Amino acid sequence: MQTEKLYYSIPLIGSLKAEIMEIIPYGEGSSFGACAAVVLDRTIFYPEGGGQNADRGTINGIALLDVQEKDGRILHILSSDKGLVPGPAELVLDTRRRRDLTVQHTAQHLLSGTILRLSGKPTLSMHLGDEACTIDVGSLDVPETLLLEAEDAAARIIEEDHPVIIHFCPPEDIGSFPLRKVPPQGEEIIRVVEIEGNDFSPCCGTHCASTGRILMLRILSAEKHRGMTRISFIAGLRCLYDSRMLRKNVEVISRALKTPAPETGSAVLALLEKTAGLERQIKTCEEENAVFKAKAMLHRAGIVPDAVSAAAGTPAEPEGAPVEGSALRLLVERIPAGIDEALLIGRAAQKLSGAAFVLISERDLKFAAFCSAKDADLRALLKAPMEAQGGRGGGSSSFFQGLFPNAGALSAFTNSIKRNG
Ligand SMILES: [Zn+2]
Repeated sequence: MQTEKLYYSIPLIGSLKAEIMEIIPYGEGSSFGACAAVVLDRTIFYPEGGGQNADRGTINGIALLDVQEKDGRILHILSSDKGLVPGPAELVLDTRRRRDLTVQHTAQHLLSGTILRLSGKPTLSMHLGDEACTIDVGSLDVPETLLLEAEDAAARIIEEDHPVIIHFCPPEDIGSFPLRKVPPQGEEIIRVVEIEGNDFSPCCGTHCASTGRILMLRILSAEKHRGMTRISFIAGLRCLYDSRMLRKNVEVISRALKTPAPETGSAVLALLEKTAGLERQIKTCEEENAVFKAKAMLHRAGIVPDAVSAAAGTPAEPEGAPVEGSALRLLVERIPAGIDEALLIGRAAQKLSGAAFVLISERDLKFAAFCSAKDADLRALLKAPMEAQGGRGGGSSSFFQGLFPNAGALSAFTNSIKRNG
């Protein structure tokens, strides 16, 4: 049987009594999981179509998950079939959601029609999302001036509160309407939605009675997408909520930067520039500090900086010992600040001496080793002792780093390389 569609004639009715004619098991293996679909004698729920999502609400208190029109039947997909029997049903529509979707949909007609009128660029697809809605305009050349012009023109049409008129037209007469897009084929009657004098579009969705109900239309962004321009927009109360959110954020920035709201953008950019300058200065200081600490480390080990040959064969001091079978010295040094500073000091020391440095960060349970001597291979020196203590890591002949699971393992590794190193 055909379900009587009341979503056009009584678009925003909150509840209605109807009859459940049929209950169908539904959703086995779908994203809903097993649930039920019911067919009603009449419905106020809009099934997904024309780019508009299906309505939500309840039927006999059971949540309505989706509404789909299939083979001429309108299936109301419910979260459960518990207590569901054919007979009387109480339909309750989520009117807030429907009103919002209706507003977004009407705004989409208005925006697509306005951009076409101003620039000749057609809308090729649309999407009404829960956050933002989009239209894809068939051109990559959509300048900001056009978007502003379209927004202003749409605002005027909203302010003038033009009626939205629904025409029912047989296909043979459809040529009498200046349609914005190609009408559907094979329909007995084509539904044409007109924004009085501004836009004519074949559409099966729900639309506001007049443009004033859109309240406001805001373009959020425009970006290139698959050879088209995707324009994001919001309308209606979404603009109010968006404005509140933006205002709240601007107020936080305005207070923090002691800047009037209209100047927060340039104030943030100036702050970022200043921060970048400070970061560069800090980096320079850190590098200079690392060179200083590297020189102090070499000094403690009795190595004269800039004399790479001096690194070889110097008598051992407490933290260093000659590597067995070679003249390479292995210096082990604890770096209290952490591995990032150890890396800076290691790189600086590597430029000053050909000795091998193993820098230990007990804080980070890590070590980093450096050596610029050509015949040295840190992997051969460090890999086995590291793995013997459960450490993980790797590197090259001139740089090697590792991480240990706990302080005991790192300490045992440190002692073993000091002993064998
Ligand atoms: Zn529509």
